[in-house]
Amino acid sequence: MISEKCYQLGSRSSIIREIFAFGQKRKAEVGADKVYDFSLGNPSIPAPESVKRAILDLLDSGEEEIHAYTAASGDASVRRVIAQSLNRRFGEEFTENNIFMTCGAAASLNISIHALVNAGDEVIVFAPFFPEYRCWVEGVGAKLWVTPPRIPDFQIDFEAFQRALSPKTKAVIVNSPNNPSGVVYSEETIRRLADTLRRKSEEYGSPIYLITDEPYREIVYDGLKVPFVTRYYENTLVCYSYSKSLSLPGERIGYIAVPERVHESARVMAAIAGAARVLGYVCAPSLFQQVIARCVEDTGDINAYKRNRDLLYQGLTEAGYTCVMPQGAFYLFVKALEEDACAFSEKAKKYDLLLVPGDDFGCPGYVRVAYCVAEKTIVDSMPAFRKLVREYLPS
Ligand code: PLP
Repeated sequence: MISEKCYQLGSRSSIIREIFAFGQKRKAEVGADKVYDFSLGNPSIPAPESVKRAILDLLDSGEEEIHAYTAASGDASVRRVIAQSLNRRFGEEFTENNIFMTCGAAASLNISIHALVNAGDEVIVFAPFFPEYRCWVEGVGAKLWVTPPRIPDFQIDFEAFQRALSPKTKAVIVNSPNNPSGVVYSEETIRRLADTLRRKSEEYGSPIYLITDEPYREIVYDGLKVPFVTRYYENTLVCYSYSKSLSLPGERIGYIAVPERVHESARVMAAIAGAARVLGYVCAPSLFQQVIARCVEDTGDINAYKRNRDLLYQGLTEAGYTCVMPQGAFYLFVKALEEDACAFSEKAKKYDLLLVPGDDFGCPGYVRVAYCVAEKTIVDSMPAFRKLVREYLPS
């Protein structure tokens, strides 16, 4: 008898993948330029030139070590470069001992959850949330509590959050800039979150950890600053990834940062090493650790995403859609024109518009439009969006 749980997870592909597969089929039938595929969060801008140069230089260097195993936590010199960069940018006091290199945000999160959470514990997430959280939290036998967003600005609904907290709450996960809403939690939201967690940790007599999921930290618009959460709440673990900022999702590289201020931080770091071991990660990709050391503060051309955001937001609001104005990431969250977002996304398919229903993100009634696409796709898709609206107008 094989694992029923894993069989269930593996045999049912995610709605995002299903819609993407439908798009591939349609592209073969009608031509790629006739299908407006907004399903996947794959960065559409190339990795910066510095990444290519770093890879070539490293391969040319002749160093045998470049393909070798590193320490489980990552190469110490790489971790030092990351720590110094975070200190410079966010006024932190990290050393290499506070950084654990991982295979991207998914690994950072899954490792952190394994390290902190026991079976029977509870983990709170804020809708809309990245659907894989459920898989990781339930994977350790814990319960996932979903709290709805504050409408219309998609900040945290603190009354709902208070109701979700309990002595069993071990951790809370925040993702800002958010996939799929594009919203950045304000400094006021983060301060209030920190105050609530501090108060509740004291009341329950055990720390509630805050896990921040930050693959989009660098992708923000209009000069907005994303609060660096460790500065507000002591028991914060930062889960970062270079998948989006450097357009390297297939290379699997990121880190977990654990400040000294975290309750029993040395034990937490040891548990992180243990979790990575249990999960069989061994170490993060060696070549890409070194690439990161050379490109630590680089990003792709974020302006391309901003142009897409502006075009899409303006086009859709003019066409009559209600959208949440994205402040970061590369997603627009749009109110479906009927209550059932799955039915709405099915109707959109008729016009070869591929939109992801918000249900799996814990936000029924909305669809996600991933605008990490060519600008031309957005321009060309507008007539299809307008035709879709017309379906809902009284005849
Ligand atoms: N968290 C969020 C909110 C994401 O959107 C993604 C990927 O799209 C991940 C985590 C996983 O990122 P990675 O590719 O770095 O594992």
